[in-house]
Amino acid sequence: MDALDGWILALLAVAVALYYNFATIKDILYGDTDKSIGVSSASGSRDIATVIKECDKDYIVFYGSQTGTAEDYAKMFAKELVGRFSLKVMCADLENFDFETLNELPANVIVSFFISTYGEGDFPDGAVPFEEFLTSLDETEQPLNKLRFTMFGLGNSTYEFFNNAAKKATKNMTESGATLIGRLGSGDDGAATTDEDYLAWKEVVLDDIKDALALNEHEQVYEPSFKYTVLLGQDTEADPESISLGEPTKQYLPCNELPFSKQLNVQTGPFNNAFPYLAPMVRSKELFAPESNRNCIHAEFDLSGSNIKYSTGDHLAVWPSNTNEAVQLFIAAFDLNEDEVFDLTPADPTVVLPFPCPTTIGSVVRYYLEITGPISRQFFSALVQFAPNNSIRTRLSELSKDKDLFATEIHSKCFNVADAVLYLSNDMPWKTVPFEFLIESVPLLKPRYYSISSSSMTEKQTVHITAIVEENVTAEDSPVKSTFGVTTNLLRNMELSQNDDETTMEHTSVSYNLDGPRNLFQDYKLPVYVRRSTFKLPMNPKTPVIMIGPGTGVAPFRGFIRDRVKYASQEANANAPLGKHLLFYGCRNQNDFLYQDEWPSYATALDGALEMFVGFSRLPDTPKRYVQDLLKENESQVVTLLKQGAFIYVCGEAKGMAQGVHAALVDIISRGMFISTEDATEMVKMMKTSGKYQEDVW
Ligand code: FAD
Repeated sequence: MDALDGWILALLAVAVALYYNFATIKDILYGDTDKSIGVSSASGSRDIATVIKECDKDYIVFYGSQTGTAEDYAKMFAKELVGRFSLKVMCADLENFDFETLNELPANVIVSFFISTYGEGDFPDGAVPFEEFLTSLDETEQPLNKLRFTMFGLGNSTYEFFNNAAKKATKNMTESGATLIGRLGSGDDGAATTDEDYLAWKEVVLDDIKDALALNEHEQVYEPSFKYTVLLGQDTEADPESISLGEPTKQYLPCNELPFSKQLNVQTGPFNNAFPYLAPMVRSKELFAPESNRNCIHAEFDLSGSNIKYSTGDHLAVWPSNTNEAVQLFIAAFDLNEDEVFDLTPADPTVVLPFPCPTTIGSVVRYYLEITGPISRQFFSALVQFAPNNSIRTRLSELSKDKDLFATEIHSKCFNVADAVLYLSNDMPWKTVPFEFLIESVPLLKPRYYSISSSSMTEKQTVHITAIVEENVTAEDSPVKSTFGVTTNLLRNMELSQNDDETTMEHTSVSYNLDGPRNLFQDYKLPVYVRRSTFKLPMNPKTPVIMIGPGTGVAPFRGFIRDRVKYASQEANANAPLGKHLLFYGCRNQNDFLYQDEWPSYATALDGALEMFVGFSRLPDTPKRYVQDLLKENESQVVTLLKQGAFIYVCGEAKGMAQGVHAALVDIISRGMFISTEDATEMVKMMKTSGKYQEDVW
């Protein structure tokens, strides 16, 4: 190698380093506190003990969050510690820290963890290094003997490994000498009780923390984590393009400081859940028949040029925006000026801004806050201090303290935040609530996940999703007539517009700004990213497969089957026949039979390897047939395939369906293999543990 080669290699190394550290370098150069850029802690250090000392904190709340729910709860908890005990709390993502000095924190510092469990008992992606740190500890040396901690896990009891991440972290830490304060809390999304689980856990654990730290408690007072500054004419005119109007991240702003590198970033990523890709929806269609009173959208997003790869069975995360109607109601409920331009300055270096700033109130309400979902009782108790008058304050306080009253008066009526406050004040706007409080107390708008229904073998650059449009009629005594799913109605509005169905569009109950901030979403673009999943076909195509997916649960199986069709079409596989593939599908009637025109061609292409069983649950004068019934009707074939080593896949609704299928399979195995129910249950459990029984349920 001569000197020139050496220089070229050195330059290449610098180029690669620059490419991979681009975000960090930009962060340093431009002092960006935007979360999308993946800052460590804004103090600059990743060392936990250093940050706590430098930032003068006396309490830590950590979250490991896959979808943002654990983050929401962590932030609520942190706010309460500040509001009730005046603690100096740092609330941070586990992914931004190293933990070697976890045992060197000052003696008065307690660490509260909020960790969700994802997939088959996994830690959230960002918390994997924390898991690795815990696993690497040598328990015999009791390396965490000075640490005191609390733990609240978020999971779904339908899964075998319910709250596994929180349980595992607790076990590792206590075995390494750490002391758990209170009990390990478990929020169960499967039973839809996360909120009440949290409140029950929190009430006790806060008393334990109060005792452990000998804290004085006072009336809850809101202490903002940011300084809110209204920007006036001259501040905003100087650089109007640096004001976010709802762009997903700062990289999407039109400000022209960094044209080349900015372009590079928004085109090629790397994209993740903090930095989505703006993908065009290139094709869409309504899947249900016109006679159906429901809708289901098939949407295809083009990822070409983005460097995003997916494999069959992965999930697509889609970021919604709020409806025009919900935005207007929220603005009216709190008497907000939607054009007000403001900036947020973190109160201390550990606080990360929740969205790009400066921005406008209208943009925040439309693009960054979850304004339509159900409200939590916790939100009500924090809101008490801003009640517009004494009678509302008393009522709010009563409702926030009484679980049953809250359930009948608020929850059962399907109120969102704006509905609820207007209901309590007889439609009088609440002018007393600071907007920074709403920013911190209303959850941030999160992406929704969809099981990808295309095959990465046949559609390499295009991702298909299959989304049932959520519109639910509420209880008769509620002033709110229906609730609307924010993402699925957006997809439907996009589908109608893309296919020029203006007549239907005029009759939709909700409308959106489909063009997005500064027309960024024009031509049917949406922010998306691909989340890896462990829901995968067996490597060996000869292995028999049993797929159970009613409704939109069939989505990933369309992808699986398209994979197998591609495999069977390849000449190299002519002499390698596929194992048997059974698909159990259920829907109401022919009108909502998804992809019914496609299945026969797949069956033909797979030449007998695919067999589909369909059950309808709402045919006139006909008994309901669910996937569980179909399984039982075909139990001898199911047992035969299980004896041959079949893999089982279940996708769809977690609560009723996945549990029903589990019970049906236990029954079938017990009968077919002449073993007790206990042994059959154990066998299903082992299949789940070994990855031969996989679930993709929500
Ligand atoms: P949201 O806005 O999240 O609302 C959810 C529900 O709450 C709706 O029914 C809505 O009507 C109701 N609601 C709204 N406001 C209130 C209120 N104030 N009080 C009470 N109820 C209210 N879905 C699919 O269709 N296809 C898939 O392939 C699919 N795959 C998934 C894979 C995974 C891993 C996960 C986690 C979920 C999957 N889902 C899938 C579900 C999907 O992510 C969304 O949850 C679903 O589409 C609803 O999203 P939305 O934004 O339209 O509704």
